[in-house]
Amino acid sequence: MRKKASDALPGSSWSPLEITPNLPPERADIVIVGGGVMGWSIAYWLKQKERVRGGVKVVVVEKDPKYSQASTVLSAGGIRQQFSLPENIHLSLASADFMRNINEHLGVLDEDPIDLQFNQSGYLFLASEQVAHIMEENYSTQRYAGAKVSLLSPTQVKEKFPWINTDGVVLASYGLENEGWFDPWTLLNAFRRKAISMGVIQCCGEVTGFVVHVGIMARVEQVQMPNSLEYQPVECAIVVNAAGAFSAKLTAMLGIGFGPKDSIGGIPLPVEPRKRYVYVVHCPDGPGLDSPFLIDYSGVYFRREGLGGNYIVGRSPEEAEEPDTSNLEVDHQFFEDKVWPNLASRVPVFEKLKVKSAWAGFYDYNTFDQNGIIGMHPLINNMYFATGFSGHGLQHSPAVGRSVAELILDGNFTTLNLSGLGFRRILANEPMLEKNIV
Ligand SMILES: Cc1cc2nc3c(=O)[nH]c(=O)nc-3n(C[C@H](O)[C@H](O)[C@H](O)COP(=O)(O)OP(=O)(O)OC[C@H]3O[C@@H](n4cnc5c(N)ncnc54)[C@H](O)[C@@H]3O)c2cc1C
Repeated sequence: MRKKASDALPGSSWSPLEITPNLPPERADIVIVGGGVMGWSIAYWLKQKERVRGGVKVVVVEKDPKYSQASTVLSAGGIRQQFSLPENIHLSLASADFMRNINEHLGVLDEDPIDLQFNQSGYLFLASEQVAHIMEENYSTQRYAGAKVSLLSPTQVKEKFPWINTDGVVLASYGLENEGWFDPWTLLNAFRRKAISMGVIQCCGEVTGFVVHVGIMARVEQVQMPNSLEYQPVECAIVVNAAGAFSAKLTAMLGIGFGPKDSIGGIPLPVEPRKRYVYVVHCPDGPGLDSPFLIDYSGVYFRREGLGGNYIVGRSPEEAEEPDTSNLEVDHQFFEDKVWPNLASRVPVFEKLKVKSAWAGFYDYNTFDQNGIIGMHPLINNMYFATGFSGHGLQHSPAVGRSVAELILDGNFTTLNLSGLGFRRILANEPMLEKNIV
């Protein structure tokens, strides 16, 4: 029983892309592979930043206009400021600001205003004795970076949210602004609609190969899509890999990861699909309107879903429990064994919940350090990456898109310094790990 996130969201405007069966252009300046939220955000920002209107010819290639496996439309739609890496906090702050003013950025003349269905609601992280000191450190980093977060004692948690069982909770952190959830499809489609209105060309097809010129460094010269409705290779100056959970397939086509061991070419892009389940539950006596996006230290999370006593609930599996990724089937036993017991012990009223539906989606999981990989590959001097966001790519897409456009058009980051999130950290074996990742 699989469900798209957008189906579960009341009022969501999800619908498949219209397919335009036109031949792709023979040449483009920039080809973006992947028409998820990341690809379309980058496309929008490239047009936004081009110095001469029409100066940069951008093509977005998407293989699946129904988005049946795209992480974007299967995500939980959350945005939080509560990260431990300053880069992620800054990405969240900038993206939240963008979303607050979305109609100024992405509004299209004579079309309906964009309604992201943003539910403003803080994330409430609960910490046990073992991790309370990490929460305190994270809190200082967050405040220093400009995020509005407060620390709560168990008594304060109980006062604010009397339905929470605070046994085992030593400390909590609660987001005071810029946190909540929204409709992922609306954001993706708003980027897409605006980018197309600015001249970006969308193309339906699967990129299955590249023509590469090999010199001191390799250069992609042509993108091939034999599976497009109308086949035509596209010559290009720059390629952006925004293929989400499947972005390592593209780098494998270029031989990345197949070079001699201990050489740069022998290091694969460390991104792979990891299946995550989201369960929609009904509990009429549940926490209701004042419910935060709660993240328990057991890893279980839940948030309200609409106003009818529905909630979405989930938890990432342990490394050893990672499910098969050959399909998007839901494991209902996982809910019974690994989610519900922890959830009901934290929020006892959830003993009475009923599972209404569920879906699964793929995280674009970065096995190296579970954070985005942004920037150029050291061996291919015209392929840029925006991938590996592992569960927080949707919320960061506005600011990441802008940063990738800066790298491409200005040659360096001009607003946020994201150089730490480049491919080089993988070569240097210097992971950028989040503490308290979900
Ligand atoms: C269950 C779940 C919950 C999540 N919750 C959150 C959350 O609360 N907040 C948050 O910020 N993030 C969340 N995420 C993560 C977030 O959804 C992703 O990080 C983000 O959507 C990645 O966007 P993307 O555009 O890179 O990938 P995608 O949306 O997957 O888009 C990539 C696109 O590339 C296309 N493609 C792939 N290969 C090719 C090819 N060879 N040729 C042409 N097209 C190709 C695919 O068809 C796909 O449409 C969640 C993810 C899941 C699965």
